[in-house]
Amino acid sequence: MLDTPTTAPGPPGAGTDDDSAPFWAALREERVELQRCTDCARLRFPPMGRCPWCASAGQVREDVDARGSVYSWIVVHRAFRPEFAADVPYVVATVDLDAGPRVAVRLDRPDGVDFGARVAPVFHDHGAWTELRMVLGA
Ligand SMILES: [Zn+2]
Repeated sequence: MLDTPTTAPGPPGAGTDDDSAPFWAALREERVELQRCTDCARLRFPPMGRCPWCASAGQVREDVDARGSVYSWIVVHRAFRPEFAADVPYVVATVDLDAGPRVAVRLDRPDGVDFGARVAPVFHDHGAWTELRMVLGA
């Protein structure tokens, strides 16, 4: 993990449920923890109660190296909530993790973003929750 910027006060966090609580708890420790199906062995994201490929409820959680490659991205020009007004424009990318799953995250310092660009995780502490973002240059 490249660095640990702190952003506070931050936007409200995502809703947490029984499936996603361990993912969010791991982010607080600057780890990315995903579910692996105990039947077909695939990693999955977002956290969910059953495997989207084989429907098994069996799972284990494991830390993954959250580096990956940019699949695509958008530039957000309009704040959807007042908490984001000072942030626009910002970039949201879909990233194919080297571990397999595709995640949607904000990109910090996105100048030069391109398809396939290498990215690495950075963790933003918002006080009550931690946000996973990516930065170019993994
Ligand atoms: Zn499965």
